[in-house]
Amino acid sequence: MIQKLKKYFGFDSFRPLQKEIIEQLLSKNDALVIMPTGGGKSLCYQLTALLLPGTTIVVSPLISLMKDQVEDLKNSGIAAEALNSSKTDEENTLIRMSCLAGEVKLLYLSPEKLLSEADYLLRDIEISLFAIDEAHCISQWGHDFRPEYAQLGFLHEKFPNTPIVALTATADKLTRQDIAQQLNLNNPKLFLSSFDRPNLYLDVKRGYLQKDKNKAILQYIKKRPNESGIVYCLSRKNTESIARYLSKQGILCKVYHAGLSNNIREQAQEDFIKDKVQVICATIAFGMGIDKSNVRWVIHYNLPKSIENFYQEIGRAGRDGLPSDTLLFYSLSDIILLTQFANQSNQRDINLEKLNRMQHYAESNNCRRRILLNYFGETTSTNCGNCDVCLNPPKQFDGTIIIQKALSAVARTNQQVGTNLLIEILRGLRNSRITENHYDKLKTFGVGKDVPARDWQDYLLQMIHLGYLEVAYNEYNHLKITTLGAEILFGKEKATLAVIQREEKKETKKKTQKIDFPTIKNEDLFEELRALRKELADEEGVPAYLVFSDKTLRSLSNAQPTTLSDFGLIHGIGEYKQNKYGEVFIECIKKFINKH
Ligand code: ADP
Ligand code: ZN
Repeated sequence: MIQKLKKYFGFDSFRPLQKEIIEQLLSKNDALVIMPTGGGKSLCYQLTALLLPGTTIVVSPLISLMKDQVEDLKNSGIAAEALNSSKTDEENTLIRMSCLAGEVKLLYLSPEKLLSEADYLLRDIEISLFAIDEAHCISQWGHDFRPEYAQLGFLHEKFPNTPIVALTATADKLTRQDIAQQLNLNNPKLFLSSFDRPNLYLDVKRGYLQKDKNKAILQYIKKRPNESGIVYCLSRKNTESIARYLSKQGILCKVYHAGLSNNIREQAQEDFIKDKVQVICATIAFGMGIDKSNVRWVIHYNLPKSIENFYQEIGRAGRDGLPSDTLLFYSLSDIILLTQFANQSNQRDINLEKLNRMQHYAESNNCRRRILLNYFGETTSTNCGNCDVCLNPPKQFDGTIIIQKALSAVARTNQQVGTNLLIEILRGLRNSRITENHYDKLKTFGVGKDVPARDWQDYLLQMIHLGYLEVAYNEYNHLKITTLGAEILFGKEKATLAVIQREEKKETKKKTQKIDFPTIKNEDLFEELRALRKELADEEGVPAYLVFSDKTLRSLSNAQPTTLSDFGLIHGIGEYKQNKYGEVFIECIKKFINKH
């Protein structure tokens, strides 16, 4: 196993559970694998396929996913093919013939193709294993039910001696049970891996106004030249306005949302995967089927509606295991809008509760990773050291006066204003809305001039979270004073608020010593190798990360191998890639060494 792992994939060791899963399958038993995105699910059936005689059938819901994996495998010297409707009849016939000749180790099929080939091609070849990828699609409980998947239950009847492995990143129990049941798995062993992704830095920023957010995002991207990332937004309109803004500032970016034509969407996805654009501004429609391993950051422009959504979206960063950054912007207007959506939805109570948990995450003063893991049923007793709370624990101050000013202004308008108007009153703005309602005559008009508007946003958010104010969603989102708030207003209690930390702390060095990441020791060489990788990838028409992962590139720039055998020792370089790419890369490294 270890030998083949190095030979084909260039890795020296297994990730947690991979070895156990492969052993289970080699002994012809069924397995159910639950691993987070990037955990290394695919390797489990790919290596099994190489160790068993015959062909492994992989069922996958998306053609783009299949294409990516097949290209990746071929580029590692593994005989893989996909039969699907995007190919011509001739191409499909050729693939069928090589399957019949026993030349294909892994055959990727859509569920429809699997059904239609069950009595034909699949009868005539030796099948070593069925791997059902994205297996949650089989369950109505899952978040992505696909009716074609629901018919896969016949597999074990027709192929009683072939083991089945079902794989997914969806963890909840109901879905899990449903998968095993519907596939008629035979006493399947459950492999449930940790959902922790320690390489993802978790950061939350509150109370930014839209234009500040745009500026902050631009700064963020400028600090990460050449590094791919995704900006997730709640609305299509937002994706377009940010993309316009970033493009004007010279950032290569594209938009992706469900309102665009298929062609435009596919082009955007393709350009992102092949590093032709650096940034994608997208709604949640983007991401399923993106295997790009070198997404280095994910920004949420708005709060997602649940922790599941959030986790899945940030999970698209750092699949190669290298440190990657995630940033969540969170504002009061998001909460108001999302609450409205939840209220109008079919599963109102569930959705409100999910939103509530998401809000807690964003507002917490505790280690964010602990909250996430806790949510997925994994408890830890240590703080992670790789989130904003761990790095900069929030400081508190006596906020009684600020709270009183706000509550008093609310009281004097007879609790008939929403947040924006309230802030205008506090800041003493004179516009028509204010003068028509004579708010400029109130005693509290302008008492909060010394606090910038965006800080007011944040303080009001904290006040809502702390239970001094509530939003009347059924009354134009007006703010109402709670009993607890009244006690502060009338001086019976004092209250603390969290200090707003908006300025980037001088990049406090991230404490990632917990995990062992190769850092880039030689930036210049890394960039030269990156350029070479892109050139080769473009020549072959494949994404750059399929030539070498970022991790491999880093190890190369650090170790600077100048012989083919040293080259082959690098992480992620198997025999095939050693022979295919060794010479050009070694030449590039030698040139660099001579120059310096
Ligand atoms: P998943 O399908 O679970 O989302 P992948 O199979 O795409 O995850 O694997 C994510 C990344 O981890 C890939 O870049 C893959 O090459 C890498 N990987 C998988 N197994 C190992 C391993 N044993 N050692 C190092 N890297 C690995
Ligand atoms: Zn933490």
